[in-house]
Amino acid sequence: MSKSTVYLEHLGQKKLLGMSEIWLPSSSGVIYASPSLIYHYIEAHRYLPPQEFLEAVISFNLDANWNGEAEVEKWLTRPH
Ligand SMILES: [Zn+2]
Repeated sequence: MSKSTVYLEHLGQKKLLGMSEIWLPSSSGVIYASPSLIYHYIEAHRYLPPQEFLEAVISFNLDANWNGEAEVEKWLTRPH
């Protein structure tokens, strides 16, 4: 394992970070996109995301049936 490889361990599962993006809805309708490495930037490098992003994280309802992939598809197929 390379020293530059970053994993997130949660509930016995190991996820490779840096290969994906996190989409996060906010109450204002804005959807925030961040690299999955944002977790590492916060934990290891003391990165502090903007307040609006933090509020979206805190207010996100894990029980909601929000489908990020469907939002990506909507975005990709939107009229130009
Ligand atoms: Zn680092």
